[in-house]
Amino acid sequence: MQYRKFPATEEEVSLFGFGTMRFPVIDKDESRIDEEESIRMIRTAIDNGVNYVDTAFMYHGGHSEVVVGKALKDGYREKVYLADKFPVWMIRQAGGIEALFEEQLRRLDVDRIDFYLVHALDQTLWKKVKEKGVLPYLLQLKKKGKIGKLGFSFHDDLSVFKEIVDEFPWEFCQIQLNYIDTEFQAGVEGLRYAGERGLPVIIMEPLKGGKLTEDLPESVSEVWNRSENKRSPAEWAFRYMADFPEVLTILSGVSTMEQVRENLAIFSNEEPLGLNETDRLLVSEAAAEYQRLTKAGCTACRYCMPCPQGINIPVAIDYYNQWYRFHAYRATKRDFELDLPGDQRPSRCTECRECEEKCPQKLPVSDIMRETADLFEKE
Ligand code: SF4
Ligand code: SF4
Repeated sequence: MQYRKFPATEEEVSLFGFGTMRFPVIDKDESRIDEEESIRMIRTAIDNGVNYVDTAFMYHGGHSEVVVGKALKDGYREKVYLADKFPVWMIRQAGGIEALFEEQLRRLDVDRIDFYLVHALDQTLWKKVKEKGVLPYLLQLKKKGKIGKLGFSFHDDLSVFKEIVDEFPWEFCQIQLNYIDTEFQAGVEGLRYAGERGLPVIIMEPLKGGKLTEDLPESVSEVWNRSENKRSPAEWAFRYMADFPEVLTILSGVSTMEQVRENLAIFSNEEPLGLNETDRLLVSEAAAEYQRLTKAGCTACRYCMPCPQGINIPVAIDYYNQWYRFHAYRATKRDFELDLPGDQRPSRCTECRECEEKCPQKLPVSDIMRETADLFEKE
């Protein structure tokens, strides 16, 4: 297993971080985790050198924390850095900041969380964090030893990322990044910005939820086939991320034992993972190919919103594009169902075309909604 040092410490974190957002489930029910298999997967990873396990209050409707807690019994807790996240938006519902944190310790059945992240910060949540006094409370927990390192995970644009990095003495951060989303949210610039300020970065979605590995479009496979190094699409994506020295660990939300074993093989490579100049060119060609396969040039500007039927138009169009870009139909459909509640789905479109009048890209949104509904909402 390859490891990266946490700056200014002797602590070494495995480059493969075990993500627990996509455990195997029973009967497609996200709240019914196949516990036995999930525990076996976590322990196999730890037995083979993984020492970073990441969960969150919300994953699998709260069951992920419970299953992680069970997996870390029998001496496994001492072998890993345990990461969990604080959902600011749940404070009131959970009965306050303290009750929320205590609930997490209870579910995990531990008395300390090593890497604690304020979850999914964007501009609105960051404001709320400051208003609610979340950080002073978390600093107290840190003083008492209940939290190890304090960081945040992030979903907004680059300027908000920089603001959050600069406004608090964070110890690490977590961003979404892969070789096709280099300018999305914090992006590569955000990664470098954090690195320059001494913050190690944890990467999420390195495979874009499996879409960069499942059923590749032929033209993308052709790009990879041109390399004399025979690597799986997952290895290309992980190597792209590992190439950045700012990266501490790369989270992979594995769903099967096969994926665990594939990742273990990649991250246990004798040579440090990374890319040479020829490889880098090839990765940018693959990214450009995905770009070329994008059907609707939606910029997610949201000028079309709100839709009188409540449809989340930019997100629906993003799934429409993903369908044609990735050919990863199973993974894309699963994410569509998780991301878009029934009352925001494109089948509600009445073809009123209000959105089309407001769209600066002149997209035929109502046609796209019809086609997207056919792709995703019909059995
Ligand atoms: S055309 Fe469809 S998507 Fe556009 S505003 Fe009307 S109902 Fe909403
Ligand atoms: S206005 Fe057009 S480009 Fe902007 S989010 Fe809506 S559909 Fe996309």
